[in-house]
Amino acid sequence: MVRLLKTIFLWDLLQGLWVTFRNQNPKYICTEQYPSERPKIAERYRGAPRLNINPDNGETLCIACNLCALACPENLIVVGSARNEETRRKELSYFTYDTSRCMFCGLCEDACPVDALELTQDFELASYTRDGAIWDRQMLEEGPKPSKYLS
Ligand code: SF4
Ligand code: SF4
Repeated sequence: MVRLLKTIFLWDLLQGLWVTFRNQNPKYICTEQYPSERPKIAERYRGAPRLNINPDNGETLCIACNLCALACPENLIVVGSARNEETRRKELSYFTYDTSRCMFCGLCEDACPVDALELTQDFELASYTRDGAIWDRQMLEEGPKPSKYLS
């Protein structure tokens, strides 16, 4: 008899709905509202690369030693340099970094003797084309520009 009444009054359904509504309290909601709210990134996270410049004179810190390219197991960094005839110093002429092949191991960053190459905490690396994943010197120096969404 009880079983029949439970079936008639959809007892199981009501019980299920009660569980659902009981957990509708906003304090139990843990969905990240990305991209409106940016997630907290771990301190040691290695993300988008950046080629640092000297803030005093705006010149690159890179001395074109090629050590990062040699350290990279994926051979995805290409460093170009030319000798300055006046100063007799080797100067960086181009720098490319293929983010699509990078595994963010950080070996290049560790190999850099002047802290010019840095893996930042930015994680938005998506692009619409494969070519867009290859960052040139300008992109590396300006750093990633993540979109900011205002709600
Ligand atoms: S993080 Fe690793 S894979 Fe990526 S460029 Fe540096 S050395 Fe190469
Ligand atoms: S190791 Fe550092 S200084 Fe040398 S080429 Fe790479 S980024 Fe430049």
